[in-house]
Amino acid sequence: ETQFVIIGGGLAGAKAAETLRAERFDGPLTIIAAEQERPYERPPLSKGYLQGASELNEVYVHEEGWYREHDVDLRLGVAATRVAPGERVVELANGERVPYRKLLIATGATPRPLPVDGADLDGVHYLRTLADSQALRAGFGHGGDVVIIGAGWIGLETAAAARKAGCRVVVVEPEPTPLHRTLGRQLGEVFADLHRRNGVTFRFGATVTRLRGEGGQVREVVLDDGQALPADDVVVGIGATPNVELARAAGLEVRSGIVVDETLRSADPDIYAAGDVAEHAHPLLGRHIRVEHWANALNQGPAAARAMLGLPGRYDLLPYFYTDQYELGMEFSGDIEGHDQVVIRGADLEFIAFWLREGHVIAGMNVNVWDVVDDIQALIRSGRQVDPAELADPETPF
Ligand code: FAD
Repeated sequence: ETQFVIIGGGLAGAKAAETLRAERFDGPLTIIAAEQERPYERPPLSKGYLQGASELNEVYVHEEGWYREHDVDLRLGVAATRVAPGERVVELANGERVPYRKLLIATGATPRPLPVDGADLDGVHYLRTLADSQALRAGFGHGGDVVIIGAGWIGLETAAAARKAGCRVVVVEPEPTPLHRTLGRQLGEVFADLHRRNGVTFRFGATVTRLRGEGGQVREVVLDDGQALPADDVVVGIGATPNVELARAAGLEVRSGIVVDETLRSADPDIYAAGDVAEHAHPLLGRHIRVEHWANALNQGPAAARAMLGLPGRYDLLPYFYTDQYELGMEFSGDIEGHDQVVIRGADLEFIAFWLREGHVIAGMNVNVWDVVDDIQALIRSGRQVDPAELADPETPF
């Protein structure tokens, strides 16, 4: 069998297909995609598209005709239900068996469900798919009370969109600041202030115990202190879990995601993983990491494709993330884990934050400062010792 198969029609899967064709793979190529939509990008779903500022045709990875023109058999609306590595076959929900020579698993992640009573009421939203974003956009159109559960990236971007639509917005978060685990307390405060200035109310240190409804429609969010927040729409943004079931059932190693090496190959030499679902060996960081970011899917798809073709290369890009909220635009590079110091260069809403460990930079975030990502990443990669005072001084190059 000569066929290459990709499970998952998201960004990683679509970009892998593009690279396979660009690298002149001319054998049969199939993408198995559970969603009805052709591959699209998710970042606009909580930003421009949710705010009504960008159009549907701007979210797709490729033009509609691209798949046919490149002889990619894109199977929409059908899930893979089993991978049988011994037979090198993928089974589909419609009973079909698709043989493969090389297989890429790029199944992404699914929002973590809110584990309380009432979470299945109408008006309770998750935000992962185009349909989710459309439903939310319609809900915000009524301009009512929106309660957002979770002050991570999805929660904050959604809060900004809801404010823009004229809704009253309360964000409930058990930690003392937004983005507590990603940015730490000090930088989390920057985001809390930004949102407060734009009219968002936070309930930090609070946990949701249940949702109450009326006629099947959510009406209230009840907190652990007994307080009930009025709600016409509730958005749950409490994290996502990678779609690893197929891989696990196939006997592949799964930890925080499907375990793959520096080339994105699993222990089975014919099976690869990329994007949100992959836990890859990072050569620079010296450990395995799983990254749930757009740039990671964008670049790992192609990297896996090259590895599937036997081309050399290791995936060693640093984790990179960006967001836009109100008047704040930012980019984040690296990983703050293990930091022992934070250095701020600049002030107010125009600065670069550096996270240091034992005197070298492990992560950086540029807020409303542009064209510095390459320099920040070079500094992280260099591993060199820095002088915190010099780093904090905007006049001293870094
Ligand atoms: P996905 O995009 O999840 O694609 C996987 C696809 O596989 C899905 O369509 C799924 O239905 C399908 N699938 C799963 N199981 C099967 C199966 N068994 N058979 C067939 N198909 C299957 N990142 C940033 O860096 N910046 C941002 O600003 C940002 N904003 C975001 C906003 C939102 C609302 C969301 C949800 C994510 C955002 N992200 C952002 C994260 C980024 O979108 C993801 O990291 C990226 O989409 C991961 O791509 P992927 O291809 O790995 O997975």
